[in-house]
Amino acid sequence: MGTKGTVASAVALGLLLQEGIGDTIRVSLTPQPGEARTQEVVIATEILQALGLRSFVPSVTACPGCGRTTSTTFQELAKQIDDYLRAQMPVWRAKYPGVEKMKVAVMGCIVNGPGESKHADIGISLPGTGEAPAAPVFIDGEKALTLRGENIATEFHQIVETYIEKRYGQAQAVEPA
Ligand code: SF4
Repeated sequence: MGTKGTVASAVALGLLLQEGIGDTIRVSLTPQPGEARTQEVVIATEILQALGLRSFVPSVTACPGCGRTTSTTFQELAKQIDDYLRAQMPVWRAKYPGVEKMKVAVMGCIVNGPGESKHADIGISLPGTGEAPAAPVFIDGEKALTLRGENIATEFHQIVETYIEKRYGQAQAVEPA
């Protein structure tokens, strides 16, 4: 069940897959009351993606948070973006080929925010405690703009959407007819 079942599946399958063993994997979990059975599939795909064997959904990297930020904004934004990207994949898989390999970073302060964001395809460094209320956004390793004010989450969503359309929509357009 739960965390124990997830960790046990990941460790067991990870060892085998690292050895190159296996063509098909199956994760079996006892669902929490009311939990969807599809969680088994989510975990199986996460195992393959974590091992770098196959990508299924864009990955969101978020910092754990620490004493440098008392805000939960980065946690909320990271979850919103992750939920949104997962929800779009049934459509995006065909519309934006390659988007499943995209990396997004949502970080809580300036200590690791810019560095981690530069390593992602698109990342945002939210202001930590005592920092100026500004959130620099990095695209393809370069600082692209700075968001301020109450609508940072909404604006970042829009920036991510525009990036996907521009980068992965073009990939589709140049495919041979
Ligand atoms: S990025 Fe900042 S808030 Fe996040 S864990 Fe690192 S130091 Fe803490």
